[in-house]
Amino acid sequence: MYCTNCGTENDDGARFCKSCGKAIAEPAPSARRFEPKLTEAAAEGMEDVAAGPLPHVPNYLVHAILVTIFCCLPFGIVSIVYAAQVNGKLQAGDIAGARQASAAARTWAWVSFGVGLASVVLWGLLFIIIAA
Ligand SMILES: [Zn+2]
Repeated sequence: MYCTNCGTENDDGARFCKSCGKAIAEPAPSARRFEPKLTEAAAEGMEDVAAGPLPHVPNYLVHAILVTIFCCLPFGIVSIVYAAQVNGKLQAGDIAGARQASAAARTWAWVSFGVGLASVVLWGLLFIIIAA
């Protein structure tokens, strides 16, 4: 704690300067309490921005795996291949590439889903025809 009048260093608990005798202005308690927290929060915010400047690009990996299991294996695998590329490209800074792979993964997941759905419908129709 330094005297605001003469600049002499005093003990933390001192209320008057030992050199010039002037009352030492204590910082407001609230300011002392909250300032470090605010600074920490600001620093954390900065770190978040620094750590995560990459935009979120969905990789559709779960969709790809689901359609592969339940719908259509070949198209689902194409979808998985693209989905697996999204995060890698994103980490490499290739955001355009990541978006492209993401879009391809979504497209192939839908193709797989459509084909799977169509085949289910066709098998259903076939079953009805045979049973009728
Ligand atoms: Zn002083």
